Amino acid sequence: MSAPNKQFIHGILLDELQAWLVASGEPKFRAKQIWQWLYHQCVHSWDEMTNISKTLREKLAEAFVFQALEPVVDQDSSTGTRKLLSRLHDGQMIEEVLIPADDRRTVCVSSQVGCVFGCVFCASGQHGVTRNLQAGEIVSEVLLAQKEYGDRITNIVFMGIGEPFDNYEEVMRAIRILNDPDGFCLGARRITVSTCGVVPGIQRLLEEGIQVELSVSLHAPNDELRSELMPVNFSWPLNELIDVCKRYTQITKRIITFEYTMVRDVNDTEVCARELVALLRTFPCRVNLIPLSEIDEYDGKTSRPESVKMFIRYLQKAGINVTVRWSKGLDVNAACGQLRAQHTEA
Ligand code: SAH
Repeated sequence: MSAPNKQFIHGILLDELQAWLVASGEPKFRAKQIWQWLYHQCVHSWDEMTNISKTLREKLAEAFVFQALEPVVDQDSSTGTRKLLSRLHDGQMIEEVLIPADDRRTVCVSSQVGCVFGCVFCASGQHGVTRNLQAGEIVSEVLLAQKEYGDRITNIVFMGIGEPFDNYEEVMRAIRILNDPDGFCLGARRITVSTCGVVPGIQRLLEEGIQVELSVSLHAPNDELRSELMPVNFSWPLNELIDVCKRYTQITKRIITFEYTMVRDVNDTEVCARELVALLRTFPCRVNLIPLSEIDEYDGKTSRPESVKMFIRYLQKAGINVTVRWSKGLDVNAACGQLRAQHTEA
């Protein structure tokens, strides 16, 4: 794949495509036909668009890039989770994870190449951020995952590499295309955006009026510990984060899920459990406990099952809805950014 100066077709909104067609002397209605091919038939090339004239297909190919990703590694895990590593047009790598469960086919997508926030236990941010993904690249991740599943994607989570709110515009553009009834047509509630706590991003999302799910990575119940684990806490400390979360809940009437990665004897003590309850009991929310996936770059260990159970007890007693995400795909290095890190080692 050569580096495009052109735009990715999968990053163009319907009204933009309509405007492009009209400017190119074509009827506007062709845009919906093209979108049908892109998001309902999910074709892999211009040539498959059989009701579009050859001349128009050539014009499209001249103006837009079709293939944003080139799959390079595909790792299966014994748990059914699959991890795909793809190369972008400029040679950068990103990864996505396919997580099948019951009747769900979830894809966990990346939003950036690398990450600037540097949470200590996260493999994605160990070398900073290289660049933002464009909307067309994000949408292409979803389409690639669907092709690999051989069946319709039911859920999308922005929990791969990167911080979605550090690439707000392109992430929202991708979400609009994925959510559009004429586009990929996936309900907004089936799309989850996860942030490490970028307060202005949460504020912006609440003003957006789109019904996506919001997850906030909390990982600690007090500023001292949170700043140790997540440097983002120096920019937006807990009181600001919790304030905006409360506002989000009040205004959107939607419930936030707080992610809490559990590190043995660091943030999984009884004192932490009590502090967490005190922090969260004042407004409706959910907590998702994630026992740490151990990585080479961080010497923390995963929590003991007793500690996880103790946290569940405390939270449930306080009436806080709690779930546990036992890491799937440990044998495929499914912790964020691990596979990419192995393939891009300096
Ligand atoms: N930047 C976003 C989304 C990417 S990470 C965010 O921080 O929310 C998705 C989740 O996985 C986050 O909660 C993150 O802290 C967590 N995570 C990252 N590395 C992990 C690891 N090694 N073990 C367990 N959870 C991890």
